[in-house]
Amino acid sequence: MTNNFSLLLYIWIGFGVLTFLYLIVSKIRTPYGRHSSHGWGIMVNNTWAWFWMEFPALVVMPILSIIGPNELNSFSILLILIWFIHYFNRVIIFPLRIKTKGKKMPISIALSAFFFNIFNGFFNGYYVGFIMDQGSIYNYNVLIGLLIFVTGMTINISSDNTLISLRKNSEGYKIPKGSFFNFVSCPNYMGEIIEWIGYSVIAMSLPALSFTLWTFFNLVPRALNHHDWYLENFDNYPKNRKAVIPFIL
Ligand code: NDP
Repeated sequence: MTNNFSLLLYIWIGFGVLTFLYLIVSKIRTPYGRHSSHGWGIMVNNTWAWFWMEFPALVVMPILSIIGPNELNSFSILLILIWFIHYFNRVIIFPLRIKTKGKKMPISIALSAFFFNIFNGFFNGYYVGFIMDQGSIYNYNVLIGLLIFVTGMTINISSDNTLISLRKNSEGYKIPKGSFFNFVSCPNYMGEIIEWIGYSVIAMSLPALSFTLWTFFNLVPRALNHHDWYLENFDNYPKNRKAVIPFIL
């Protein structure tokens, strides 16, 4: 990997650490979804915001991986495929399924996610298409990483499904129950973190690691915010439930 590319990635990770510390210390609640609030720029349609802010990730990584000088092989195809499957769900399926009709989010949040996804897609796609050495799918780390990725994705999607179905008959928020919700308030975030740990185990690269860390930096503070919000809003909220890591956090 070139020195400049590695340096950029270390700066990117450092920026993630600062963001994490800021979110934890300030206890600021990123203002979308249940924490949505005015004062963060004009408000835009929630469903379209999800589509546009995640769209760069869906296309940037696969395109760079494919147009780069590195020849595609089964290993790079695997990385592109699992990335694409995840983002196809996030960009196309998830926004169509959420029951947040009429809900809005501040444009500043959508824009920050949009630019994050451009950078993150660039780092991971540029690495696969331009830098990565020929990899092999016949390694233990690939099998183990794939198992971790699929486990995380299953937890993420099934938990999102549970949350979405809470709005089937009525608006507003309810206490989610069952499966991993018995252990943590945000199993969808836990699943997402597990997914990208799996991706890092497969890819064994600095760009993949940076994404895993950023996912953790983003979602752990948000899970703590959600958990506090549940405790503030429901007297009967299960007291033994943690925020995002069963029995620990
Ligand atoms: P949330 O858990 O806040 O919300 C998911 C959906 O379920 C929303 O439509 C929400 O509605 C609804 N919902 C949540 N809790 C309840 C409840 N108790 N009762 C009724 N409805 C509920 O997740 P996010 O919106 O923050 O994230 C969505 C997905 O995107 C997740 O899978 C997450 O992992 C992923 N993500 C990944 C990031 C990353 O860094 N890789 C960053 C952010 C998200 P409403 O919007 O009205 O609250």
